[in-house]
Amino acid sequence: MLQLPNGGGPTVDGIPVVDFPDLWEDVRDFLRMMYGALKIPPCRRAHNSVTAVAGALRLATKYDAPDMAQQLLYRLEYDYPNSFSTWTEVEDERRLLEPRTADWWDLNVKDPGPDPFFDINHCTPEPASAVRLAQDVRAGTLLRAAWYELARSYAQGSSLFKGPGSPFDWTDRRAADLTLLEAGDLRRLLVGRERLRDLAHNAMEALREHARFSTERSPCKNCQEQPEASLKMFMSTESYRDLAFDPLGGLLELRRAVEQSACDSCKYSVRTVIMDTCKEIWDTLVEAFELQKLGIEVPDDSVF
Ligand SMILES: [Zn+2]
Repeated sequence: MLQLPNGGGPTVDGIPVVDFPDLWEDVRDFLRMMYGALKIPPCRRAHNSVTAVAGALRLATKYDAPDMAQQLLYRLEYDYPNSFSTWTEVEDERRLLEPRTADWWDLNVKDPGPDPFFDINHCTPEPASAVRLAQDVRAGTLLRAAWYELARSYAQGSSLFKGPGSPFDWTDRRAADLTLLEAGDLRRLLVGRERLRDLAHNAMEALREHARFSTERSPCKNCQEQPEASLKMFMSTESYRDLAFDPLGGLLELRRAVEQSACDSCKYSVRTVIMDTCKEIWDTLVEAFELQKLGIEVPDDSVF
């Protein structure tokens, strides 16, 4: 890449120059990264973590600088982990960002009302750009979480997002810039969402069959009604019919609801069965979104 030009090449003020076919911003970020001067958000859930590393990562991949590329990939894996257990940690952190639903808020303020300053789009990266970058640099470890994030996002610029004060002030909903996607990815998104809905529906039906969720068949006489009631409530909520349906987020919410009301024994078994269900859905995401057809290997998530 940095072969010095010989004397016969182009010059500026008498100094030989190298001509790059790449975007100048990407070259700038690549050089900054090389000299330790690239500003990268240090923690998860920064709105600019993808854009901050994208240019340097693209060129580190293109010009075969594997150590640099790996370092940048590790940073993106904070936000888009391949492992389900790490993903749940990211979700727990994200939940703390959402003042209307965070545990501490529920416990401390009875009726907080909407927070006019909160907007999830200001504290999480834009998902379509994450998907594009992961595919451009063939980063299989990012794909599963990045695609899931895209699938549960709404279309940026849709009439639902009218800004603060509008009847649809959904500042707690992530919006994706779908113009960044290619036709194949748009199809993948639509097909994947349909499959995800199917998968989730089957998973909920299976949960309903589980003895701990059945008032009649539950072995527990102390709190037998709560798990069934929580599941029923979850299955009848609007979010279940949502276009940007988020079954994993919903199941984690269900787990929290059960944990707040059930006895210790039920808490444990209900938590286990819900987390197993989530993990099954997580494992099928690669197939649901046809990620294997991208020709990029997505590693199995064997650690739970
Ligand atoms: Zn119980």
